[in-house]
Amino acid sequence: MQLYNTLSAEERARLIDEAGKQRLTLSFYAYTNLPDPKKFRDELFIAWNGLDALGRIYVAHEGINAQMSIPADHFEAFRDTLEVYDFMRGIRLNVAVEQDDHSFLKLTIKVRNKIVADGLNDDSFDVTNKGIHLKAQEFNNLLADPNTIVVDFRNHYESEVGHFEGAITPDVETFRESLPIINEQLQDFKEDKNLLMYCTGGIRCEKASAYFKHQGFKNVFQLEGGIIEYARQIKEENIESKFIGKNFVFDHRLGERITDDIVSQCHQCGKPCDNHTNCFNDACHLLFIQCDECKETMENCCSVECQETIHLPLVEQLKLRKGLQVGNKIFKKGKSEALKFKMSGDLPNKPLAKAHTNNIRQKIAVKKTLIGNAEHYYTKSKIAQFLVENGTLSVGDKVLISGPTTGEQEFTITEIFANGGSCETAREGDQITFEIPFRIRLSDKLYKIL
Ligand SMILES: [Zn+2]
Ligand SMILES: [Zn+2]
Repeated sequence: MQLYNTLSAEERARLIDEAGKQRLTLSFYAYTNLPDPKKFRDELFIAWNGLDALGRIYVAHEGINAQMSIPADHFEAFRDTLEVYDFMRGIRLNVAVEQDDHSFLKLTIKVRNKIVADGLNDDSFDVTNKGIHLKAQEFNNLLADPNTIVVDFRNHYESEVGHFEGAITPDVETFRESLPIINEQLQDFKEDKNLLMYCTGGIRCEKASAYFKHQGFKNVFQLEGGIIEYARQIKEENIESKFIGKNFVFDHRLGERITDDIVSQCHQCGKPCDNHTNCFNDACHLLFIQCDECKETMENCCSVECQETIHLPLVEQLKLRKGLQVGNKIFKKGKSEALKFKMSGDLPNKPLAKAHTNNIRQKIAVKKTLIGNAEHYYTKSKIAQFLVENGTLSVGDKVLISGPTTGEQEFTITEIFANGGSCETAREGDQITFEIPFRIRLSDKLYKIL
């Protein structure tokens, strides 16, 4: 019986693209009492692997915490696999607003001591005595109350790109650190202020709210389903967003735009920017914010040292890496001296700039004709592959690439490859490739601007 991944991330990305099916990025969690987490873990792996479900999931005696990517047409079948367990019957699945078919490329289910590393001794307080859960509108209402203190229970790199107006954003790297800091900071407000708390998907607040009630806070409230669910509700019910900027997420998208406000800066040049990236030097892999220009000059590195390292022969790089603690490579959360514009702690409540998102009016104004659909994107070489399904495309043509995640991107074609060589004009039926400076997705469409 297969209980672990057999495909590499690259193979998986390729398979997903070839399948050409829409996927949904979603998350959920549930607290319960599991007698045998290992057995539970194996059952889930078998059921989910069969559905081509991917993601990062933690299970423990206390429950489950999952971030996943599911083929859209397996969504109901996936839900059925949850309904098997009493404690997950009717569970709310937080579906991401923006979709990316490559949000997860492996199915990783780990048995842990706890589903969230909160550093709390659960026997020392009543974990079921939680705060009052609030929906988006209720949250907004309470936020407007001058007697309310709102606290962001996420980490510095999360709140930096987006947060609720007026929120206290602790300068911490882990959830565990934030609990005593907030408790200390709000010492004098336990009796009469409303403590309003939020996090990404609601899970951190589940236990934190009980902890703060135990610490003596009288009026404790939490955002139900976190920012993810808030984003869904404000969109569906047309409620004004009191959250500004991006919601940092733990999949390779690294962020989901909630409003078009940019509240953070490129850590290298200070220009308004909220795109996180990981340093290209594998020995570093620092998570930081980098604008497109700096990405180009710095070659996706966080420092000159890292940039020099990536040009060394691999053998040399491996030598340098020896003895270094790379640990949790994907989300190395440290701060770096090299990054002058990193902000944490007290964050501005005013946007620094507006993001260029899909502009509907502009869409109508541009005259364009559909040429074809995206078939693949080779991330390393930045080469996109399209199938020409209509008309022709020539070198020098201005094109527009459009899709839900990609947005609207315009540029001029400088070189086309088709049928194994460089060509001037591609025709219907040609499978073409060319270099694109940004990542495209399978569902993207290619238009020629007239
Ligand atoms: Zn920059
Ligand atoms: Zn680096």
